[in-house]
Amino acid sequence: MTDAKKNLKKHLVLVVEDEEDIVRLISYHLEKEGYSVLSAGSGPEALDYVFEHHPDLVILDIMLPEMDGLEVCRRLRSSEKTASTPILILSARKEELDRVLGLEMGADDYMIKPFSVRELMARVKAMLRRVEHFAGIQDSAGREEEKVLKGGDLLLYPERYRVTVAGQNCNLTHKEFVLLHLLMLHPGKVLTRELLLDRVWGYEVEVDTRTVDVHIRYLRQKIEPDPANPRYIETVRGVGYRFAGEPG
Ligand code: CA
Repeated sequence: MTDAKKNLKKHLVLVVEDEEDIVRLISYHLEKEGYSVLSAGSGPEALDYVFEHHPDLVILDIMLPEMDGLEVCRRLRSSEKTASTPILILSARKEELDRVLGLEMGADDYMIKPFSVRELMARVKAMLRRVEHFAGIQDSAGREEEKVLKGGDLLLYPERYRVTVAGQNCNLTHKEFVLLHLLMLHPGKVLTRELLLDRVWGYEVEVDTRTVDVHIRYLRQKIEPDPANPRYIETVRGVGYRFAGEPG
């Protein structure tokens, strides 16, 4: 094991898939990268494991016995404890992607089977780096008072990984949280879709800036009192988005 790998914090990845060959392949590569791996072969087993072991990331196949991956994803997102657990979906047919990534399911990323293991590992690493980044912010904040970001009735608690509107908790996915956090760190400033794509997705994939628009749309549905007339996240046509803060 190299020094770099020894220094890596041991993240726990849950692989949910009933095809044993694929589980073996993914597990082998994850362990080679220094991650701890747990696997579940059905939907109910996956839910049990997530609530029991709190994995840092879930790789979730859609075609599963007993309960499919979409239902597993939906249930994880609707529980406060697991609402922001990063989820990477496998085997979604292309037509399902908007649903998978959207408000209803709220997955953070997806890969279509057959996938390249190298590409899967790159995405897993990128997703876990972002988790680490936020954990790092928490650690360095230590016992100091939490710096809450505020815009009107909207509050974002970086350390508690929590967003509220008028005191009501919004269950954001990991990506939605990162996106909103980034916008709120630069109130009044236009962030281009390319910049957001780079900072939130941060790696080379076939996703384009339309992905940013889709996520902004779902984010608005969760935080805006009237998503059709957004008061927090403004669209700057042809450029990007801006956090407006106070109701305008
Ligand atoms: Ca399967």
